Amino acid sequence: MIARLVIASKNEDKIAEIESVLLEAGLADSVVRGLEWDDVEETGATLEENALLKAASVAEATGLPALGDDTGLEVDALGGRPGVYTARYAGNGASYEDNYRKLLEELEGEAERSARFRTVVALAFPDGSNILASGQIDGVIASEPRGVGGFGYDPVFEVDGRTFAEIPASEKNQMSHRGRALRSLIREVGL
Ligand code: IMP
Repeated sequence: MIARLVIASKNEDKIAEIESVLLEAGLADSVVRGLEWDDVEETGATLEENALLKAASVAEATGLPALGDDTGLEVDALGGRPGVYTARYAGNGASYEDNYRKLLEELEGEAERSARFRTVVALAFPDGSNILASGQIDGVIASEPRGVGGFGYDPVFEVDGRTFAEIPASEKNQMSHRGRALRSLIREVGL
């Protein structure tokens, strides 16, 4: 059981999803909020490296165990892109909508639209040790955005006929890459 941990992200959409999975696991009271740290540049070549970069630097800055997450959208027709560049697909500072519109443009006229979200989570401790886990979900890229929920590429990522933006947050957490990665980490650590 971890008494205290920090979520190593400044993305409120992500934090909300992570907190609700931790809440379900009975860990909500462990989350320490309101701490500050300098932004961490995502310079890693893989999701694993980036998740660890974020978690380790926040653990060092705060002196508390830190949970970092890095997510990539891997589109088969694009050879696995945007992958590790998912957040900056349409350029630095691109909005969620800029990114998914660029993806729809690249896939215009493409019949093969299979894709997956993959998340790596890293729990890093102030003593330098760490534990990694990952989760993924297969889907297809829709031909146009649908739905108002979620964030990021959710309006164009479709599973069983509905986009992630068309399903309730609780349902997304049950099946999503991030939910799966976190539950796997929680099992592994025995939190
Ligand atoms: P990062 O993990 O902060 O590098 O995020 C990568 C990018 O993936 C984010 O900017 C979002 O656009 C996208 N993303 C991450 N998680 C999700 C998700 O659950 N649904 C849709 N898009 C996501």
